[in-house]
Amino acid sequence: MIKDNLLEIKNTLPEHVTLVAVSKTKPDEDVMEAYTAGERIFGENKVQEMVGKWERLPKDIKWHMIGHLQRNKVKYMAEFVDLVHGVDSFKLLSEINKRAQQHNRTIDCLLQIHIAEEDTKFGLDKDELDLILKSDEYLNLKNVNVVGLMGMATFTNNKEQVRREFQQLKSIFDSIKSVNPRIKILSMGMSGDYQVAIEEGSTMVRIGSSIFGKRNYK
Ligand SMILES: *Cc1c(COP(=O)(O)O)cnc(C)c1O
Repeated sequence: MIKDNLLEIKNTLPEHVTLVAVSKTKPDEDVMEAYTAGERIFGENKVQEMVGKWERLPKDIKWHMIGHLQRNKVKYMAEFVDLVHGVDSFKLLSEINKRAQQHNRTIDCLLQIHIAEEDTKFGLDKDELDLILKSDEYLNLKNVNVVGLMGMATFTNNKEQVRREFQQLKSIFDSIKSVNPRIKILSMGMSGDYQVAIEEGSTMVRIGSSIFGKRNYK
């Protein structure tokens, strides 16, 4: 069924939209079922869990860190992580840069923008984003590449509110993209709202439960 869900979703995505299959809490067998069906990009929100899966599973998988990230965990994934979605401070970006440098690589990152009503969701506002992108300290980070933005809408059935929040993120994305040619990824949309996100300009959707089924948190 994972295979069917995956292929059904992939078939509906426009060509310019990349799927991240969110496998958090799910066992290796589930990841392998999606892998066998052709999926190569997987998203996790806990560093330890992602490291374990990276160690055990095929090495051509691209691992995306999509969750809130603590600075002291960056070192464990710096060797292999493909894209970090939720960077919400300069300090974190700077730590990712330091750890990437130790592995002689450059890590692609998305800056997380706060668009939801709930204040439980992390992220920067537009002013904080501009401050980071314009600072000399940022320009001196040679081992991180900020390639776009990420955001999460409010968890609500109100589709119009979700749409407005995605529009807000898209307009911030457009404004920084126009002055920075490296900015190309807009990560927005999950199982419940990815169609709206795509209508509003998403280029990357993070979908978990619609592919793998409900998660069991113990
Ligand atoms: C869990 C998670 C997702 C996927 O959520 P679903 O509703 O299961 O699709 C997407 N983005 C982030 C940041 C997540 O933590």
